[in-house]
Amino acid sequence: MALELPSYPPLEARPIKNTIVLFDVDETLTKARRAATPEMLQALQALRQKVAIGYVGGSDLSKQQEQLGTADRPVTSMFDFCFSENGLTAFKMGAALPSNSFIKWIGEDRYKELVSWCLHYIADLDTPIKRGTFVEFRNGMVNVSPLGRNATNQERLDFNEYDNVHKVRETMVAKLKEKFGHLGLTYVSYPYTLYLSKIPTHNVKRPPTPTSGTTTGNPANYPHNSFSIGGAISFDVFPTGWDKTYCLKHLEDEARKPGGVSYTTVHFYGDKTMPGGNDYEIYSDPRTKGHSVDGPDDTLRQLKEEWGI
Ligand SMILES: [Mg+2]
Repeated sequence: MALELPSYPPLEARPIKNTIVLFDVDETLTKARRAATPEMLQALQALRQKVAIGYVGGSDLSKQQEQLGTADRPVTSMFDFCFSENGLTAFKMGAALPSNSFIKWIGEDRYKELVSWCLHYIADLDTPIKRGTFVEFRNGMVNVSPLGRNATNQERLDFNEYDNVHKVRETMVAKLKEKFGHLGLTYVSYPYTLYLSKIPTHNVKRPPTPTSGTTTGNPANYPHNSFSIGGAISFDVFPTGWDKTYCLKHLEDEARKPGGVSYTTVHFYGDKTMPGGNDYEIYSDPRTKGHSVDGPDDTLRQLKEEWGI
């Protein structure tokens, strides 16, 4: 039986005007890859009575549905704005907003040139072993792995050690930048966030829990553990600016719509807010008021303190 969904004042009638509160998902609203607790869902409901709320997550909608929604409750009904894949897939009050994708942006010809170059480059590498899936196409990016993504955990660890010495990825990225500099692409290798969603829990050795405000995806901050989670074996390539700040475009579009709300105050809560972390850009963007959290319990504490819920 479907649960009755709570009702909220329309966006233009929320008591706290022209304001939206955005949240990262993993380690901000939920434990990494886990479902949100009833306390968190309750807090979000209470907050939504006062102010517009949204999430901005790097993963796709199905992942956020799994973590935040239920069979009876689509995640798109739980937030005023849902920004999946940093906003490439977006919903407002359950209705889809214009979407975007890497291939739409770059075009088939240039994409083909990029992928062919990567495959040629990897084919000519004399690395100790190669496995499969060297290039993985995703909606918002392409993921490139000189080892191949379907390597075992041990093979990933071994590659990482090799890569630390021989700088395979670093050199490849430098050459890509040289060759495709005109395309305006960003190259990123997150040492553990990406792998947390890929590796079964029993293989995951979590990095030490950082103290509040120091969370980061920068490998230098996890000298012993950053590569223990299956090993970082790849890097992502995506258009510059397609980090979490991408979702702010949708809010700017809102302001231009007839009767649309102009969100002049945008709060953002995230856990990886230091340089190198995937929340850093939006957290430090002049258009937002950034809040750094140390896990969902800390988010709850801050929400209660700051919003009186
Ligand atoms: Mg996070």
